[in-house]
Amino acid sequence: MARLKIILTSAVLASAILIGGVFLSVPKGKTEPVGAARRTESPEGGLVVFDVSAGRCVRMETEEYVFGCVAAEMPALFALEALKAQAVACRTYAVAKGRCPSHPEADVCTDSQCCQCYASAEELRRKWGGGFEEYSARIAEAVRATAGELVLYDGNPALTLYHSNSVGFTADCVTVFGSSEPYLISVDSPSDAGAEHYATQKSFSLSSFVDTVNAAYPAAGLTTRSVKREAFVAERSADGRVKKLVLGGVNLDGAHARSLFGLRSADFVLTFSGEVAVFDVKGSGHGVGMSQVGANVLAKQGWSYREILTHYYPGTCIGTTAETGV
Ligand SMILES: [Zn+2]
Repeated sequence: MARLKIILTSAVLASAILIGGVFLSVPKGKTEPVGAARRTESPEGGLVVFDVSAGRCVRMETEEYVFGCVAAEMPALFALEALKAQAVACRTYAVAKGRCPSHPEADVCTDSQCCQCYASAEELRRKWGGGFEEYSARIAEAVRATAGELVLYDGNPALTLYHSNSVGFTADCVTVFGSSEPYLISVDSPSDAGAEHYATQKSFSLSSFVDTVNAAYPAAGLTTRSVKREAFVAERSADGRVKKLVLGGVNLDGAHARSLFGLRSADFVLTFSGEVAVFDVKGSGHGVGMSQVGANVLAKQGWSYREILTHYYPGTCIGTTAETGV
């Protein structure tokens, strides 16, 4: 990626576009996010977004996309500095991650499992009902206050992964996704324990546990008689999340185990009680990058969005991109 020339944030808010019923200022000309020009190769700029529910591509202003993304990804009543941090994270991730892997004709899609969630104004009216005006204004303020800003590492947009809530510390990217980034390392996130879904439990009868495993991984060869002996956590990463779950003849990493059993995170304990297999799970999400719950708590403690972002993405700074240098 070409090195970017950075203008540390002094963006002059200028033009205004209508988003979700409220006006949102966006920076002019050179202070527009790099993604607008670099990714779509279109003179009109913006992002090409593949709307999964409609099954088609839509071109939209980058800041309009960020608004719908923040609205879908974070509760609107979270503290304003947390919403701002989320806005910068959503904007940066859309720019940094490259084209949508499932829909390469688009920059991003609206599937959270692939790119990031996005909600249109219509969807938000349904979701928020009578709170639409208030919630829209909060999100719009967070987007407007950070317009054009990106998380930068060594001058480049950072891959700003984020998740719902952690387990007292975030996960190192390499232990979850197998690839490393210097700013996606485990950091303290002590406020997560108060989250609504911090501790969850999921149970399976022995037969449904065995069927679930064998259907996905026939080589596991589990039986209800052998499962208590042959299913166990064999290894954890330094941050405590499951690294290797043995299931008879197969081994799964934490991410695949989480996906197979529909667990909120890969930080779990598996026990067997009578004829039941029980997963006790802590945290929610993959655990990498910014904890949204942690960001909200830190914001309520007086942290600014910049402090929140540089805490969860250590070694980065916040800036706007003037030009790509491509
Ligand atoms: Zn996608």
